[in-house]
Amino acid sequence: MSTFQAPKGTYDLTPPRSAKFLAVREAISAPLRDSGYGYIETPGFENVELFARGVGESTDIVTKEMYTLTTKGGDQLALRPEGTASVLRAALEANLHKLGNLPVKLWYSGSYYRYERPQAGRYRHFSQVGAEAIGTEDPALDAELIILADQAYRSLGLRQFRILLNSLGDKECRPVYREALQTFLRDLDLDEETRRRIEINPLRVLDDKRADVQKQLTDAPKLRDYLCDACKAYHEEVRALLTAAGVAFEDDEKLVRGLDYYTRTTFEFVHDGLGSQSAVGGGGRYDGLSEMIGGPELPSVGWALGVDRTVLALEAEGVELDLPATTSVYAVPLGDEARRALFAVVTELRRAGIAADFAFGGRGLKGAMKSANRSGARYTLVAGERDLAEGVVQLKDMESGEQTAVPLAEAAAELAKRLG
Ligand code: AMP
Repeated sequence: MSTFQAPKGTYDLTPPRSAKFLAVREAISAPLRDSGYGYIETPGFENVELFARGVGESTDIVTKEMYTLTTKGGDQLALRPEGTASVLRAALEANLHKLGNLPVKLWYSGSYYRYERPQAGRYRHFSQVGAEAIGTEDPALDAELIILADQAYRSLGLRQFRILLNSLGDKECRPVYREALQTFLRDLDLDEETRRRIEINPLRVLDDKRADVQKQLTDAPKLRDYLCDACKAYHEEVRALLTAAGVAFEDDEKLVRGLDYYTRTTFEFVHDGLGSQSAVGGGGRYDGLSEMIGGPELPSVGWALGVDRTVLALEAEGVELDLPATTSVYAVPLGDEARRALFAVVTELRRAGIAADFAFGGRGLKGAMKSANRSGARYTLVAGERDLAEGVVQLKDMESGEQTAVPLAEAAAELAKRLG
């Protein structure tokens, strides 16, 4: 070990486990790429103000969890705590919404940073794959995104996840509910911080995990009873489309999610094998966000799925991903002349698109064969002085154990044939 360790709340992805992270990112993005979503990449940091306005000044993310910094030039920046505000900012900046092709459908994959109390499944650096569909209000779009996330999780082999669904209303009905909720909450026995929250973002109080708070919330007014007819109809259509697609969900009235910008549809994917940090992904509709960051009215919907927790969920379910061995051929030279000859064969194989590796460092046969085994290669090429004198290499099938001498000049072609 060196003098240094990964910073608190972070960890490194190292082989072989890192392969699972790549596979999860690939599996989550595949259904998006097949559904008209284009790839977008934004900087790892933004102006603090984007998140303050876009995520919301009353959220824990902005008030407590952002990594902020002042540059030498005096700019106030923050490491991105989430993806949506950045993606919308970038789409507006590039005028993607003016190209006459709404919704603008985008997907992204990257690192996010939150100064949270670290625990299992909760880190200060984590990774998400996300999707945003910008500029269209259509229940089918909300349904599409939920269906694609469900498809992604299923393609990985996950089964023990549930979809929680709710509607948060819109700018017509939500304020009426907000006031009714505030009136109810002000009469409860709550601490100072929670009292402040009642005034800034009362819906978040419903999300409070403490039992003594939850006990007092049993008779809280329900958002469902306040939804306007347009929101009700919209929500019913989303539910109907999910049901028609065979995607099961649970109505969850308490689902408000931590970000201020959500309107109407909100949803969360929870996994039952993860303990307290059970949310593997979440999202919703954010019809007001564009205007909040100075853009035009652009009703939008999106989600972000956590890669770290998805890997933990796979491990909790005991799902083994079908990860093919990365190396097909492993070359073991014995002596300098064989080194040159086999190194040339390995280079030829790689150029032909066959994954090949080589026993570097002039190790003995035993150690090199161990590496060959560990590589998972289907075939090993072994050559010593005697083989080369005869112009051959030994080709060993690692599955059957069968070994044959093949002319050196034909080794690459023979392997290409056998590997199809
Ligand atoms: P959120 O924007 O908080 O809904 O986050 C979306 C998803 O990102 C969550 O469902 C988690 O899977 C993941 N996530 C959020 N925060 C963290 C964290 N601190 N550590 C690991 N994963 C996280």
